[in-house]
Amino acid sequence: MNDLLTHIAACVGGAFEGTDTTVVRVTTDSRRANLPEGTLFVAIRGTNRDGHDYIEPLYRKGVRAFIVDGAVDVRRYPEAGFVRCDDSVAALQRLAACFRDRIRGKVVAITGSNGKTVTKEWIAQLCPPGVKLFRSPKSYNSQIGVPLSLLMTAGDEQIAVIEAGISRKGEMQSLERIVRPDIGIITNIGDAHQENFDTPEEKAEEKLNLFAHTPTIIYNAGDPLLRRLVPARYPDRQLIAVDASRCDLNGLPYPDAASRENAAEALTLYGVMGYDMSQVRGGLRSLQNVAMRLELKDGINGCKIVNDSYNSDINSLGIALEYLSSVAGHREKTLILSDIDQSGLKPDRLYAGVAELLKANGVTELIGIGEEIFKHAGAFDCRKEFYLTTENFLRGVNRSRFSKKSILLKGGRRFQFERIGRILEDKIHTTVLEVNLDHMIHNLNYFRSLLREGEQVMAMVKASGYGNGTFEVANMLEQQGVGFLAVAFADEGVALREAGITMPIVVLNADSDSFDLMLDYRLEPEIYSRSSLQSFAETVRRNGETDYPIHIKLDTGMHRLGFERQDIDPLIDALKTIPELYIRTIFTHLAGSDEARHDDFTRGQIALFRELSDRLVAAFPQRHILRHVDNSAGIERFPEAQFDMVRLGIGLYGISVAHQEHLLPVSALKSRIVQIKEVPVGDTVGYGRHGIVAEHPVRTATVPIGYADGLNRRLSCGKWSFIVNGRKAPIIGNICMDTCMIDITGIDAHEGDTVTVFGEGAPVGEMADVLGTIPYEIMTGISTRVKRIYTKE
Ligand SMILES: *Cc1c(COP(=O)(O)O)cnc(C)c1O
Repeated sequence: MNDLLTHIAACVGGAFEGTDTTVVRVTTDSRRANLPEGTLFVAIRGTNRDGHDYIEPLYRKGVRAFIVDGAVDVRRYPEAGFVRCDDSVAALQRLAACFRDRIRGKVVAITGSNGKTVTKEWIAQLCPPGVKLFRSPKSYNSQIGVPLSLLMTAGDEQIAVIEAGISRKGEMQSLERIVRPDIGIITNIGDAHQENFDTPEEKAEEKLNLFAHTPTIIYNAGDPLLRRLVPARYPDRQLIAVDASRCDLNGLPYPDAASRENAAEALTLYGVMGYDMSQVRGGLRSLQNVAMRLELKDGINGCKIVNDSYNSDINSLGIALEYLSSVAGHREKTLILSDIDQSGLKPDRLYAGVAELLKANGVTELIGIGEEIFKHAGAFDCRKEFYLTTENFLRGVNRSRFSKKSILLKGGRRFQFERIGRILEDKIHTTVLEVNLDHMIHNLNYFRSLLREGEQVMAMVKASGYGNGTFEVANMLEQQGVGFLAVAFADEGVALREAGITMPIVVLNADSDSFDLMLDYRLEPEIYSRSSLQSFAETVRRNGETDYPIHIKLDTGMHRLGFERQDIDPLIDALKTIPELYIRTIFTHLAGSDEARHDDFTRGQIALFRELSDRLVAAFPQRHILRHVDNSAGIERFPEAQFDMVRLGIGLYGISVAHQEHLLPVSALKSRIVQIKEVPVGDTVGYGRHGIVAEHPVRTATVPIGYADGLNRRLSCGKWSFIVNGRKAPIIGNICMDTCMIDITGIDAHEGDTVTVFGEGAPVGEMADVLGTIPYEIMTGISTRVKRIYTKE
């Protein structure tokens, strides 16, 4: 885009104030304003953040254009222009609607419960050469993502494909007003986001609102609901029912039903638009699997590797670079990038745009692979080197040069960047713990929805984030605006600081030997006894510190650590003699908040806490002391004990005693089949010959995970089953140290297939029940040799 802010104000119906300026791009995320000049920042009030809080830092960075819906003292920003409106999201949507009118080609809107992203990507991949196509990036399908997508179009596209998603009633109507599709595609109606709808029909009807004025609608006739609802609702339109089973999909490399439906819908679109189908169909053979996720892995020599196997195009490069920046910490940023194949842009423009993105994101080193990028080497002014092929790069590579870097791998499929990934990744053990950070954010937001306005969260990341890894989790929590982190020991806190985490960190089991270290790293101790108080006070004085925060732990019945009733007066007296320290928070821990049979006891703990903490708070009236009691189960079961803050632990990681249905699973332990055997009747499997093959021959799969990885040996001999291609495969015989065998008789499985030890279809809570323990023990027992992989959409 290239518009004056005054013009934008007229377009959205807002009042203009300040200095006019030219806008070339729009963002709603303060962290994405990397190129301040020409950026319009739309300040949006979210549940956790208020965009208006970022106006001042953005102004300092050089941003000069804002849309706001709250009070801003514009005189403080003399060089900036402001558009004042009633509702920033609505203004953004109106701006996008104006922009929509500039698109000269066809606007295609895709919705549905599953498969819309794959369909969108495949439409892009099947696009005939010479046709300019735009598609909305990755997960930009929301009330904010859709308008931002439209604002990324240039106007001269022949096809603009926009993905639209909803989670509640009424949302589609506003998206319809922005997108006004010429052609609509609806993939199917599944169970995703069903919670805000009474029936699947209701959800389907809401989705169909997207096509209120759409002349041509393509729908999946394999979905019974759509088969009935679409013709009934829109009898007067051009309706095209797609039946994948009757469609010629010769060459499509993916045999599964969902892929066939997605490909059939993509082909149908080109048929409807009158393209030469022999050419489009030829593209089926090379359709790429759409990896939906950015993967973050530990690399060699302390590197972090972000692997983006998503298509190589410039919008997704921007998103991946932002993600790289968000996880880089102090590390230097390296980009390994192949030729960008599908852009529709002239190569000069394309690589100039790439160079701009690298600069904006602070990438210090580029490794370019491919002929095209090589030709445009001159466009880049960072440290750079180029190779014609991936092979050439691998031949000359010296692994030791990659040390303490954050590296983004972004290559088109033909460049096979997975080969580079393999040499840069840290552990080549095939067992991984997959941690879904998006699900963790969902869980965080669920618990936040139970809190009162203004209430804070202390997130528990002790024991390496309950086994899920610390830095990545902490980094996400920091970005989500969580107030405090808590770790068990000082060295966990030190590791977080060294990785670049700056938010307050509380150390729960602060040991006096580590007090000096804690001061060096600005870690805040839990103080639970007079002796810990005195010795921390001495350390603080010795280091010449003043005004250092501490957290007072009260023992109200757990009888683990903490001050009791008779300790309160002496504690107050002692604290009055130590002006170097101040109480930042006071807290206690509930011993049985998850069990109804202890509810009277719990209420007693809460009452005692109130009494004791009132005395402490009254003794230090000049300080604003925060109080906190509830852990995860407490938040759900004892809202009266929320005080000023809560301590969220296991719930964040996907486990709830009260409302498991509101949470999403966070971690999945996965491995691979390394060998398959046919074992005849009479033979046995494994140590001690416990896996007896009695009645019929058994097909076994050997999986490289054993008790040394944290797979409890008591799960041997059928006590637990892994999931293989959607089916349960019981463990056969005894679990070994590094391997185990499962029975895959009757399951279509091959060497190399993934198996889920726990995760989808095999909840960790059930495994805990089998073992007579709690999920905490299983999650924290996964060995550190199991590689953690972080996924994010
Ligand atoms: C671990 C811990 C929590 C979190 O408990 P969850 O049951 O995991 O929510 C809260 N407070 C303290 C003091 C803890 O040690």
